[in-house]
Amino acid sequence: LLRVLSVAPGSIGAEVGLVPGTELFSVSGHPLEDFLDWEFHTADDAFVVRARLPSGEDVEYDIERVEGMPLGVALEPPRIRRCANHCDFCFVDGNPAGMRSALYIRDDDYRLSFRYGNFATLTNLKPWDEARIVEYRLSPLYVSVHATDPVVRRWLLRNPEAPAIVPQLRRFADLGIQFHTQVVLVPGANDGAQLEQTLADLYGLDAAVLSVSVVPVALTEFSKRDLVRAPSGAECRAALETVDRWAARAVTGRGHPWCFGADDLYLQAGVPLPPAVWYGDFEQRENGVGAVRFLQTRIAAAAGRYGDWAGKHIAVATGAAMAPLMPQVMATLAEETRARLEVLELANTVFGTSVTTAGLLPGSAFLEALRDRQDVDLALLPAEAVNDDLRFVDDMDAHELAAAVPMEIRLSTDFADVLAQQGVAA
Ligand code: SF4
Repeated sequence: LLRVLSVAPGSIGAEVGLVPGTELFSVSGHPLEDFLDWEFHTADDAFVVRARLPSGEDVEYDIERVEGMPLGVALEPPRIRRCANHCDFCFVDGNPAGMRSALYIRDDDYRLSFRYGNFATLTNLKPWDEARIVEYRLSPLYVSVHATDPVVRRWLLRNPEAPAIVPQLRRFADLGIQFHTQVVLVPGANDGAQLEQTLADLYGLDAAVLSVSVVPVALTEFSKRDLVRAPSGAECRAALETVDRWAARAVTGRGHPWCFGADDLYLQAGVPLPPAVWYGDFEQRENGVGAVRFLQTRIAAAAGRYGDWAGKHIAVATGAAMAPLMPQVMATLAEETRARLEVLELANTVFGTSVTTAGLLPGSAFLEALRDRQDVDLALLPAEAVNDDLRFVDDMDAHELAAAVPMEIRLSTDFADVLAQQGVAA
């Protein structure tokens, strides 16, 4: 069931009479399963919406898109596709007991992969899903490959039913779908010769695989440490050597590195990060690949323009993917601004812990983290966490959040965009 969460004032949705709580049934005769159907079928210039208002009245709207006027309809968050795997390194198992139920959700959702760049394994696709990926051209998708050897991959995913990934990707590739891929490096399982084979197989898929990142497995104190361990510095260095070899080959053959080590892999290997230019368009930045260089570049570009924030306590709220990398960029920022900076790592209370990108953090997570922080003067929130109407994924309005917390809040892409504005400091 697809339901309207909110309707922006002055939008087409508001003009025709859509209101929060309206159930949406079909667009131009196409039944609606989820937000993808809605977005795909309402992209036309004219369409007919069949719906039921909260009063129980069935309605039909003939809608013509007026140029420059947004549809303005936000939908209730989708029911997340559950994961069919049981990886030993799963984030969800890394949660202590007694937290909110959403934090135990294992998501594996190709729709969120397309829409938000979440990694999915594609192990839970039904033929209907595969057809949709092609029909709606859900490309690029972000895919957790881990290993291309089917036996190793099934072992890593703890899923004996997982389909062989290379033929699966090739089928999609033949139909025009591309991928950003990742390998979560689990020592003794998919490193060494397995990593070599995986990169060779992905390289062999040619232009269909746009990039591959190698990310060291992240464990918490609650992870199944008897079954999986973090890689040692030497194992990270060995993995980086393999990554570098494939990157050098790709630079020669394709003109760009294609294969990247995550920032964390360099940190754990004790190897300096490549320069910013190595990362091109920073396409896996949200996955912690090139994130440090990206932010350092942006922070440095604003040098000399920072306000004086001496004596101010500034909180930087972000997701679990970016938080461990923040100390590397905070030092320069602290020097430039003279502020006291604190990183707040927030868990995703709507989609679950495995969704670690800052852009999907709900307003309620920020509210919870900030509402009792009388000691903080300013909180920087990731700008990508709100839509054009300044609403978070849980429909909380950014102004509503600002009114409910004791400090000033600002939306920021790279910190410099807020802190380098002279005169902002109180
Ligand atoms: S790590 Fe991801 S793919 Fe593995 S079990 Fe957890 S949610 Fe599923």
